[in-house]
Amino acid sequence: KPVVAIVGRPNVGKSTIFNRIVGERISIVEDIPGVTRDRIYSSAEWLTHEFNIIDTGGIEISDAPFMEQIRHQAEIAIDEADVIIFLVNGREGVTSADEEVAKILYKTKKPVVLAVNKIDNPDMKEMIYDFYALGFGEPYPISGSHGLGLGDLLDEAAKFFPSDEGDQYGENVIKFSLIGRPNVGKSSLFNALIGEDRVIVSDIEGTTRDAIDSVFTFDEQEYVVIDTAGMRKKGKVYESTEKYSVLRALRAIERSDVVLVVLNGEEGIREQDKRIAGYAHESGRAVIIVVNKWDAVEKDEKTMKLFEQNIREHFQFLSYAPVVFLSAKTKKRVHTLMPMIDMASENHSLRVQSSILNEVIMDAIATNPTPTDKGKRLRVYYATQVAVKPPTFVVFVNEPELMHFSYQRFLENRIREAFGFEGTPIRIISRSRN
Ligand code: GDP
Repeated sequence: KPVVAIVGRPNVGKSTIFNRIVGERISIVEDIPGVTRDRIYSSAEWLTHEFNIIDTGGIEISDAPFMEQIRHQAEIAIDEADVIIFLVNGREGVTSADEEVAKILYKTKKPVVLAVNKIDNPDMKEMIYDFYALGFGEPYPISGSHGLGLGDLLDEAAKFFPSDEGDQYGENVIKFSLIGRPNVGKSSLFNALIGEDRVIVSDIEGTTRDAIDSVFTFDEQEYVVIDTAGMRKKGKVYESTEKYSVLRALRAIERSDVVLVVLNGEEGIREQDKRIAGYAHESGRAVIIVVNKWDAVEKDEKTMKLFEQNIREHFQFLSYAPVVFLSAKTKKRVHTLMPMIDMASENHSLRVQSSILNEVIMDAIATNPTPTDKGKRLRVYYATQVAVKPPTFVVFVNEPELMHFSYQRFLENRIREAFGFEGTPIRIISRSRN
């Protein structure tokens, strides 16, 4: 999906515009338990276009001075976006901070669309002319608080969307990523995984300017590790900030089939880990939880079990994800990862036979009657698998509202008992049959 980034000095209304463009989506996503959305990155739609949008204003570099902060945000936009929306405040005219942003943006070949915010009514349109001076062509008048002008702005941005970039890798290649907080050991684990002489590695440029993917073959299966550059790079100031690392993780997740959520066994589980894991789950990718640095943990025979319980408690939404305790440093149990990635990937694209699926569902209903509401009982007619990656099932019923969350969870458990699906989320959608 194309990526649009919003840049501009503070107080021009970046997050208002971001929320307007994103619309309802954020609140839907927040319904998933255990997940708090960072409001800096979201998918969005405009007419037939689907894209992702970044509010660079949400990425703060805590101790950087004001101007430097703004410059870093503009650099992030250049690194991460296909199209940049440069936002200014129509009521204040061109400021020196706007010029500073412009200076950074002159260096990029990426398309920049200039938007002048706070033009709340047509009489104010004259205020946009000053902004021609910034050198980005026609300024688009918009009003974040009134929701005006966004259509024209997005039309313009969409003109620059790359035509269906597709996927440069074949169907049979397994794409995976290692994500996690800085310093949990992602790049060490990457090296431990592929550093052995039986693999061939080549680096391929990913979709963002900075993304490097590593391709390798192991046991005749081809793999791509998504955005290995994002794991290694810590050069620029903003690259060590948490928000930026989350942003990179999100982009990597999106291009992966299997996501390895890497935790630091020495430090335990942090809020940030939960957030990253939450994204992985929401995205519908297969997930494996990796507890790294297990060598450095003082332990007895109970430690692993307790740690796993802790994981299960904090990541309830990831109950399907296997947990591996390993050490990138000593390589202990690193060899168990490749078979696990294969397994998760296979389950992620598993199709089950309709006849068996329906037997499983009917058996489930026979042992645990469907819920009733106001004297009405849920009737289940039949189920069918409609998609893979992740496996998605449609259950045809009399009235979808009667399908309680808890009953759906019960059906999911039965489907899992029957078919496995370890490592992958599955989705169940109730539809009325008519
Ligand atoms: P990244 O930021 O997640 O890519 O983390 P790095 O791979 O750069 O590792 C961060 C630090 O943790 C480095 O000092 C590594 O040497 C150390 N480290 C990585 N894996 C292990 C491990 O399995 N055990 C121990 N004890 N240290 C590790």
